Amino acid sequence: MGIATINPATGETLKTFEALTDEQLEAKVALAARTFEQYRPLPFAQKAQWWYKAADILEADRERFGQLMTLEMGKPLKAAIAEVQKCAVVCRYYADNAPTFLADEIIETDASKSFIRYQPLGVILAVMPWNFPFWQVFRFAAPALMAGNVGLLKHASNVPQCALAIAEILHQAGFPEGAFQTLLIPANRIADLMADDRICAATLTGSEAAGASLAAAAGKQIKKTVLELGGSDPYIVLESADLDMAVSTAVTARTINNGQSCIAAKRFIIAEAIADEFEQRLIEKFAALKVGDPMQLDTDIGPLATPDILSELDELVQENVQQGAKLRIGGQPLDRPGNYYPPTILTQIPPGASANEAEFFGPVALLFRVPNLDRAIEIANATPFGLGASAWTNDPQERDRLICEIEAGAVFINGMVKSDPRLPFGGIKRSGYGRELGCQGIREFVNIKTVWVK
Ligand code: NAP
Repeated sequence: MGIATINPATGETLKTFEALTDEQLEAKVALAARTFEQYRPLPFAQKAQWWYKAADILEADRERFGQLMTLEMGKPLKAAIAEVQKCAVVCRYYADNAPTFLADEIIETDASKSFIRYQPLGVILAVMPWNFPFWQVFRFAAPALMAGNVGLLKHASNVPQCALAIAEILHQAGFPEGAFQTLLIPANRIADLMADDRICAATLTGSEAAGASLAAAAGKQIKKTVLELGGSDPYIVLESADLDMAVSTAVTARTINNGQSCIAAKRFIIAEAIADEFEQRLIEKFAALKVGDPMQLDTDIGPLATPDILSELDELVQENVQQGAKLRIGGQPLDRPGNYYPPTILTQIPPGASANEAEFFGPVALLFRVPNLDRAIEIANATPFGLGASAWTNDPQERDRLICEIEAGAVFINGMVKSDPRLPFGGIKRSGYGRELGCQGIREFVNIKTVWVK
């Protein structure tokens, strides 16, 4: 697929883009490297001022930016506007907190003075996905640039106008042009970029295959990477849980972003005693969701981002039905233009069916019934992924075991998994490594320099 805006609600190609030539790419990398030398010594206060301005620009024009996201990847407009606002929050969060997170840390040793100093690394490449086209980029850029690095963005090929808009926002906010640039290039040019000495490190959010490929290219050059990859998050509901809250939150947790979120709840693991009721209520709530034009503010579920995502999801559902899973609602692409797939529920998934392991990137809920907490934890952990987990219980002992025993980068008790600028975000196992957000996020792309003075 080329670099293009294709409206997922209609299938219409609205705009195509030429990839950068080798010369254009070289000029951008050279500008980034030159800019780093002038940009890194600027005081935090200057960088923060630009981030505050970027936050203001985002908020002032949130509807336009929201519409751009919806146009390119199909998320409901209301959610797209909320995403723009969340980006403003992360800009301000790092503008406020970077000076504290990166202040020298005194450590008492045999020296007259020893301390840790956090210094920027240089040019960082960010390879980003289309599913949260603004948020994924801002949550990388705000900490990276506050720390004194400069950024190059290779965004997903289906959101080029979002990519260009983000670079423009930062430029308008006052950042030097070379502090953050968008590279319109296909993924097959990334390995060569990683071999360029001027690029110091990279972060990728996306699929396992893309993560493995980037990490291999970076590994050859001994360059640091952060990987935020897929997930098949469990959503455990035990007998003592508040069932009303658990069911209504389950709907949001599964269908957010048309079901295309790495931290969406994907496997619902329900205590046998409440499973019939949970299932029935979930079916009713899924049936009531409004699927349709994502530009309408009352739409709950818009189209999937691309025809490929639609056909992969459809194949996965059909395959599991053939393997013995029961389809309770949905299960067929909608007969209309655009990549529409309805809210779908699969139950009675047999052991060995692919739904036990695969990531369903769309509005498909997988229901599992368990006799007790031990089995719930066992199923929750029986996945190659380890991104997030949500668990519902009002029993303190159950809660403590879930917090301790779930294999994931985050456990949310009685709430859905979500990202928050104040909390570190990332996974274990095949969901990747490293952390974004919080204090941990800004320390990923810095030299943690030890200083010892006799
Ligand atoms: P994808 O195909 O991996 O694309 C993500 C980015 O990687 C795009 O910019 C893509 O460029 C690029 N890319 C593709 N192949 C590459 C390669 N071989 N080497 C280097 N870069 C490559 O991801 P997707 O399937 O669109 O996105 C969905 C996946 O992302 C899901 O698995 C989801 O769970 C995961 N995700 C994870 C997080 C998290 O924070 N953990 C957040 C959001 C999404 P092109 O578009 O040009 O191919």
